[in-house]
Amino acid sequence: MPSTGCSRRDAKAIRYVEAVTTSTDAAPAPTGPRAAGIHWDLSPLVADADEARRRLDAGLERARAFESRYRGAFETIDAPGLAEALEELAAIDNELSRVGSYVNLRESVDVNAQENKDLSAAVDRALVEAANALRFFDLEWIALPEERARELYDAPEVARDRHYLIALRRFAPHTLSEPEERMLAERGPAAVSAWQTLFGRITSTLEVPFDAGDGPEPHTIDRLLAHVRDPDRDLRRRALEALYEGLAPHADTLAHSYDTLVGDRLAMDRLRHYSSPMEPTHLRNELPGEVVDRMLDAVERHYAIAHRWFEVKAGILGLERLELHDQYAPVGEFRAVDYPEARRLIDESFGRFSPRVSGIAGGFFDERRVDAEPRAGKRGGAFCAPVAQDASPYILMNFTDRMNDVMTLAHELGHGMHFTLASEEQTALSAGTGIALAEVPSTFAELLAFDHLMAVETDPATRQALVAERVEGSFATVFRQTVLTRYEQRAYALREEGAALTPDRLSDIWFEENAKYYGESILLPEGYRLGWSYIPHFISTRFYTYAYVFAHLATLALYARYRERGEAFVGHYLAFLAAGGSMAPTELLGALGVDLDDPGVWEAGFAEMERMVDEAEAG
Ligand SMILES: [Zn+2]
Repeated sequence: MPSTGCSRRDAKAIRYVEAVTTSTDAAPAPTGPRAAGIHWDLSPLVADADEARRRLDAGLERARAFESRYRGAFETIDAPGLAEALEELAAIDNELSRVGSYVNLRESVDVNAQENKDLSAAVDRALVEAANALRFFDLEWIALPEERARELYDAPEVARDRHYLIALRRFAPHTLSEPEERMLAERGPAAVSAWQTLFGRITSTLEVPFDAGDGPEPHTIDRLLAHVRDPDRDLRRRALEALYEGLAPHADTLAHSYDTLVGDRLAMDRLRHYSSPMEPTHLRNELPGEVVDRMLDAVERHYAIAHRWFEVKAGILGLERLELHDQYAPVGEFRAVDYPEARRLIDESFGRFSPRVSGIAGGFFDERRVDAEPRAGKRGGAFCAPVAQDASPYILMNFTDRMNDVMTLAHELGHGMHFTLASEEQTALSAGTGIALAEVPSTFAELLAFDHLMAVETDPATRQALVAERVEGSFATVFRQTVLTRYEQRAYALREEGAALTPDRLSDIWFEENAKYYGESILLPEGYRLGWSYIPHFISTRFYTYAYVFAHLATLALYARYRERGEAFVGHYLAFLAAGGSMAPTELLGALGVDLDDPGVWEAGFAEMERMVDEAEAG
């Protein structure tokens, strides 16, 4: 399906599917351990569950009214008329996003409450219905002849949503007639979703008996993988062995699911006149294919940076050479940090960059838009919810009193910075960025925090842990996701040549692409041949992984510019955040001096990675 104006709403709905209950506590007391009492206050969004239902119904009603008013209107609409329609669309987006986010946030801190589950189901239904009611608008807009469309999108009345309007049309050459699109949509559940569900069932229910020290217990894939960060080398090795053993009986089914999906995607590409398997992804990311190709080549040329780190790490661990199960072995140790200290460190890190940025972060704390205390029924991990263009973003995290929580907080506040500034200047339709740039502000904020911590932290074990996490985080994003992309490229090429994607063939190309990365510096066990089999991205969204590479390298390039230009860079960076999704990534980065047409554009990013390894080597 072409991306539609509804995709932002859908993406939000997906992102916030897990959330929980309004805290009725009084203002946060001074915190004890684990950010005790730091709960968010959702009341500025929506008063309570009843109001949420009322507003959901009203939003849905408005979407239906929009449909009756504007269906067929593109025949005659003029620029002021289009501006009015866009304004109403933005208002509907705001309303549904606000209520949807409120419900998902409630649920994320009390996942077991029945009322939250009911509300959440009501939101899901309403969002699907609203998307159905509004879909015509994008389709009719896409179907307009270019000349007529240009007249409209070039009009000053719609200037704020010009890029949004143009970007919607990028899928026009690949969109079929309405009955054809409907037929394809109807067969989706059997042709696509069923295989994804089968894959999901196998990988999420797979359990292997494993003894992590307290006797054999059933271990899921995630639980086994968590052991790769254990200090006990033997445990790490055994966990990976158990994983591959557990996967082996399912390899045929997992490969067949992938083979079927790849075959279907290639068939759809022919129907939709795509020239390469990566083209739909490039279009979605708004990135030119040549830029991505050059980037992947450049990453491969720099695998040696990783080899150097693997050797440094082997030295730290007192090993001759790393084996795969040593890749994420812990190095150093994060010292304890309580919540008030974390807040102070964030304030200093961001304050050094810009008072505006630390002010925005301060707003999250002062207005109780952070939920930090881990507790029963709260979901794990961390996220920042944009909520709506006319509302403020919220952050969920699980604070455990360790220094790496500061990095998590910095990451989420980086997203928060982006959402806050973009909302100030953009409409609801143009505020959101695509996935190519979404992780840039968060990664940039982590780098700000990292540099500050390295400047002030005196505990050697914490410094070592910070550097290792920084380096390994970069490698897992830049290098490893490139390996994943290369693997996918080869799988699609094989399938296009008519070769079925059997477990053996997939294992061969997987192992070859990984061997290029790890080289001589990490020994890969035979079982790792099945490493491709449980990775969800391949199944859910093809070539999704290169967007991570792009965002990370773009951030490193931006950070290098900041290092070089200092103060002079800050205003441009804030303008970049405020631009939201109102321009294509190439334009947004170009304005900051990162020229994607320059073949050497990524060198500054790799130099940053070299610098991190130097820092690690220096200890
Ligand atoms: Zn993020």
